[in-house]
Amino acid sequence: MLERRDSYEALRSDFRWSIPDRFNIGVAVSDAWAARDPGRIALLEDRPSGGPATLSFADLAERSNALANGLRAQGIRRGDRVALLLPQGFETAISHVAIYKLGAIAVPLALLFGVEALEYRLVTAGVRAIVTNASGNARISAIKGRLRDLETVVLVEGGDGDAIGFDRLIADHPVAFTPEDTAPDDPAMMIFTSGTTGPPKGAVHGHRVLLGHMPGTEMAHEFPPRPGDRFWTPADWAWAGGLLNVLLPALYLGLPVVSSRSEKFEPEAACDLMARMEVRNAFIPPTALRMMKSTVGIARRFPKTLRTIESAGEALGRETWEWARQELGITVNEIYGQTECNLVIGSCGALGVGKAGAIGKPVPGHDVGLIDAEGQPVATGTPGQIAIRRPDPVMFLGYWQSPEATEKKFIGDWMVTGDQGVADEDGYIHFFGRDDDVITSAGYRIGPGEIEDCLTGHEAVALAAAVGKPDPVRTEIVKAYVVLRDGVEPSAPLAEEIKSWVRERLSAHEYPREVAFVDSMPLTTTGKVIRRIFRDRARREAEG
Ligand code: ATP
Ligand code: MG
Repeated sequence: MLERRDSYEALRSDFRWSIPDRFNIGVAVSDAWAARDPGRIALLEDRPSGGPATLSFADLAERSNALANGLRAQGIRRGDRVALLLPQGFETAISHVAIYKLGAIAVPLALLFGVEALEYRLVTAGVRAIVTNASGNARISAIKGRLRDLETVVLVEGGDGDAIGFDRLIADHPVAFTPEDTAPDDPAMMIFTSGTTGPPKGAVHGHRVLLGHMPGTEMAHEFPPRPGDRFWTPADWAWAGGLLNVLLPALYLGLPVVSSRSEKFEPEAACDLMARMEVRNAFIPPTALRMMKSTVGIARRFPKTLRTIESAGEALGRETWEWARQELGITVNEIYGQTECNLVIGSCGALGVGKAGAIGKPVPGHDVGLIDAEGQPVATGTPGQIAIRRPDPVMFLGYWQSPEATEKKFIGDWMVTGDQGVADEDGYIHFFGRDDDVITSAGYRIGPGEIEDCLTGHEAVALAAAVGKPDPVRTEIVKAYVVLRDGVEPSAPLAEEIKSWVRERLSAHEYPREVAFVDSMPLTTTGKVIRRIFRDRARREAEG
């Protein structure tokens, strides 16, 4: 936890981790508060009619105990993998806590996954039990014959066939449970990466990962807990962003989390929900913020009570950051990390750390460097690999059963992210691009983020992706794929106008020589643009 709050520099230089000898996430986010303040609200669930349903910390502690007993009766032991295929909700939080208390390994899965995606992850992780709902169970049933390790299915909407009812399991088991005595380095969860660049990898984290997230959370939400603080995210809790940036740190701080279950992000509905549920602290990924920005009249719908917005997962960009400052009066705190090592660079308006177009500065407690292929630091202004030095409590233990892939992630003690960044004179780190996304044109190396950011500054553009298209003369040219705002018609003159817009604002070597209009952006379930799809398309176009 951060102690001094006056200056970023003091916070950073004085920071020392205090990781206890024994630590269990389940205990820390439920029993600890249930003992201190049992009636305190842990979760609020948005309901279509009537007021929100609530779950207290005492409820969370007791129900997770009963579920832990129930899962143990099903043969689940320490180290076993238990998957969660559920939307945001009480059962999801209760299941997470139960799994941690058992010393088992939680494998959160996105409800949007189709059968192939599920099979890949469930088989890879050797999942023995899964907690899911009817829609998840329909998909599980279809592939069950191929899931050789899966023995138990727990269904939140009552039992069905071989599946055991979630409420039944809780009702049938005692509410007293002695949590497994875990060390901070014992595995707690396996989160699959988003699969933006290739097959998703199962990153295994120890119980310490929650403590590792606290300084970044404190920066991003400007020193919670403050009176009335209440967290929410439209992101799936199956993603590191939802689980580790929102659900678990908020509960650890004794703060309520609002759960909601819309499958598709809709700017107006999101604003109404924040107002209705009195959300004070939101984690909204960049694509969602950009969708908000391109919705007419949205600013008026934002609740005045909103105190902080954290954003991560992709580059936020200058345009959206400035829009939020002007239109919402909120400085969005951008943060950076990856499933393997999250929340290591960040911003904090309250500390004066925040700059348009920059991610932010290293979060206290994390040794972040920009290095070359030999592991040497690069000069200010030169792109380098964003790297984090071990040991770091927020860093993964390794990829599941893949020591070689894990080893490849390191140069000496530096964990390399596969992302490139550039530091400026003020110590801010700017995101340059993922290794695969960097465009090489006429000898220049170009990060797509700046171009996309500039494109979304044009009034006709809602979303944009920039990729390199193979070119015999320039190696690659920049090609932009653009989704227009509602009501704007694509045309050749508009494409020309958009090209000049970027050319005038960036440079003659960075502007897209080709602009194509598309109806929608291909997004991962975590809402990130999959540039790979456009890159493949551009390559095919070049091959003719
Ligand atoms: P995969 O590793 O399977 O290809 P992924 O890298 O998208 O998928 P995640 O771990 O969910 O999976 O995402 C982390 C990545 O998201 C980072 O490595 C980085 O490329 C990008 N990212 C996160 N935060 C930011 C940010 N603030 N600015 C730019 N990019 C970001
Ligand atoms: Mg990655």
